[in-house]
Amino acid sequence: MRIWDCHCHLRGEESGQCVIEQMDAAGIEKVNLFSRYPGRGRGTDDPVTRAEVRETVDHVAAVQSADPARIHGLVFANPRAEGMVEEIERGIVELGLRGVKMIPDHWSPTDDLVQPIYAKMAELGKPIQFHAGILYGFGDSSRFCRPVLYEALVNHPGVRFSLAHIGWPWVDECIAVFGRFRAAAGYQTAKCQMWVDTCRGTPDGWREEALRKAVPFCGVERLMFGVDGTPASMAEQAPVHVRKDLDLLRNVLGLSQAQIEMYFYGACEAFWGG
Ligand SMILES: [Zn+2]
Repeated sequence: MRIWDCHCHLRGEESGQCVIEQMDAAGIEKVNLFSRYPGRGRGTDDPVTRAEVRETVDHVAAVQSADPARIHGLVFANPRAEGMVEEIERGIVELGLRGVKMIPDHWSPTDDLVQPIYAKMAELGKPIQFHAGILYGFGDSSRFCRPVLYEALVNHPGVRFSLAHIGWPWVDECIAVFGRFRAAAGYQTAKCQMWVDTCRGTPDGWREEALRKAVPFCGVERLMFGVDGTPASMAEQAPVHVRKDLDLLRNVLGLSQAQIEMYFYGACEAFWGG
């Protein structure tokens, strides 16, 4: 079965060749791979220079160049970093990167600070993969990560985006936000600007309930499988996550093989316009 991991983080030292080897070992055909976060572990008042941003963008582009058909590189945007919008544009237009990853680090998805990034992504026609749900890093920032805050994207109808972790623990809220965007698209799922990135977040005890709700409401064509690991952890983690989700979808929820293939591969392919 073809597997597309929609959510993987670079640490910053990987070579493209080693990422390909890890993907092969993990049974992952394609991956959405996020650059290292520029300014990781720094306070929000500590300036992040354009040179630091550029280094993370150049790294993910170098990794992607090992096999751009299998590796979809994304710029992890820090909206407070110097020259962020220009570096996103350079990464996408000059280096062929595919989109942007964002985690609200003491900023809200509704803030003025992030509007230029939304506008640039609408202009470039490329998607944003957002974190949503409880946040185990970035200090006390979970309050900025409620799924409903992303309703702000309704003002940017040209921006495709995904919300990660099915918004756990705000799974119902995340699914409702999907409904809100589908309504904004005239109730036509094919025109809806939102996808749900189902990478873990939901512990095992919540996983069945989350998928039992998300599958019929959103449809598997809008639910993307993801691991939320790093290339180094992929070979160990991915087969476990695939096996657990496959068991739930096939044996508990009773999905067809075509629906299962949509979940593990097709939904992400559609996210990229495939
Ligand atoms: Zn992640």
